[in-house]
Amino acid sequence: MQLFERIDAGLALTEEERMLLESVKTLARDKLAPRAEAYDRGAAFPWDNVRDLNALGLNAMFVPEAYGGAPLSYAAYLACVREISSACASTGIIWATNFHGAKPLIDFGAEEQKRRLLPRVAQGGLVSLAITEPSAGSDATGMKTRFTPAGGEIVIAGGKTFITSGDVADLILLFGKWSGVDDERAAISALILEKGTPGLSVVRLEDKMGLRASSTATLAFDGCRVPRANLLAPPGEGLKLLLASLNKSRPSVAAHALGIARAAFGDAVAYVNERRQSGRRIVEFQGIQFLLADLAAELAQCEAWLWHVARLVDAGASDIGIEASIAKLRASDLAMRIATEAVQLHGGYGYCKDYRVERLMRDAKITQIWEGTNQIHRQLIGRSFTEKAR
Ligand SMILES: Cc1cc2nc3c(=O)[nH]c(=O)nc-3n(C[C@H](O)[C@H](O)[C@H](O)COP(=O)(O)OP(=O)(O)OC[C@H]3O[C@@H](n4cnc5c(N)ncnc54)[C@H](O)[C@@H]3O)c2cc1C
Repeated sequence: MQLFERIDAGLALTEEERMLLESVKTLARDKLAPRAEAYDRGAAFPWDNVRDLNALGLNAMFVPEAYGGAPLSYAAYLACVREISSACASTGIIWATNFHGAKPLIDFGAEEQKRRLLPRVAQGGLVSLAITEPSAGSDATGMKTRFTPAGGEIVIAGGKTFITSGDVADLILLFGKWSGVDDERAAISALILEKGTPGLSVVRLEDKMGLRASSTATLAFDGCRVPRANLLAPPGEGLKLLLASLNKSRPSVAAHALGIARAAFGDAVAYVNERRQSGRRIVEFQGIQFLLADLAAELAQCEAWLWHVARLVDAGASDIGIEASIAKLRASDLAMRIATEAVQLHGGYGYCKDYRVERLMRDAKITQIWEGTNQIHRQLIGRSFTEKAR
């Protein structure tokens, strides 16, 4: 695995970031990985993992100092997502979702909102990002959740589906449409909904193929009232905020997918070096070496692209939609491919739960579906080359 260690060694991290990453690796190896199988079987929310992440103060890394955080680079954040996800993909996405939900508040929130809400995030609060609705998936502009102003408050009516951590989140970054604005896109707005708001209820939790320890909730908003001070993006601003948020969360889900890919590749390499058939270790068969070569080459290139995107973000670039789509598309397709090949390389044992690759294959699938399905990313990337008709 020297190849991948060398890629990691090339990351431009500070000494402080490297030390934190080492602590995350130790936690992932010693605690998260050993617990992952039981969490997968039981489909229980991994509260002890969340507590352990918070003991390292991990949420603080994406919150500015002025609001109780201890910010580190985007590259350091992505490296941590990958490590945690490699040990337990459910825990990885729970933590990454805190970032996805909090980042728009950090980037677009008013000073008062940040002072009031961000210390809770820095201290380890769980955050959800709520966009999807039963009739608005790939086309989020079809959302129907309504925000209606009523004096100093906003009344929320509607519902969201498939919301990661929706049942446990302290804060929900909620997208909806402003009543009375006819234009579908201009009506989109965003606000912060706090846990325990009357009228907010959990309608159901999904029983999923993978990421079974991460909860996925359908939420209903039955006349929830939030102070107008919780409005993050007024009508006309919401879509811009939504797209900007996705630019930061998509590389993060790519890092999550690469965590799964690395785990599957590592398990496959270990197995083919140990398993013997026809009097030889199966790694000695050329067909298997060719497969490992293809997977390693793609993994190395995908990781290099992730760090390219991280450098752009750390340098302050914001127009990175296509780069983010490429990272998400390639990392998730690769995670699925490597996890599937890892099962194949384990033969019949790979199909059974005694080996981790069975879980990794189930965990990998969602990475091709969420944060824009891979069809949508192909569309976004391809469409970017369309020139104006002459
Ligand atoms: C476990 C899990 C966690 C999730 N977490 C969150 C979360 O925290 N917050 C949140 O808001 N959402 C979340 N989602 C929702 C997720 O982002 C959506 O499921 C995803 O965007 C796809 O929407 P959909 O399921 O409605 O599928 P649809 O949009 O109905 O798509 C169905 C199929 O049609 C294809 N399709 C649709 N439009 C096109 C097109 N224009 N061209 C080609 N093909 C197309 C899709 O690619 C897909 O294959 C989560 C989903 C899951 C399963």
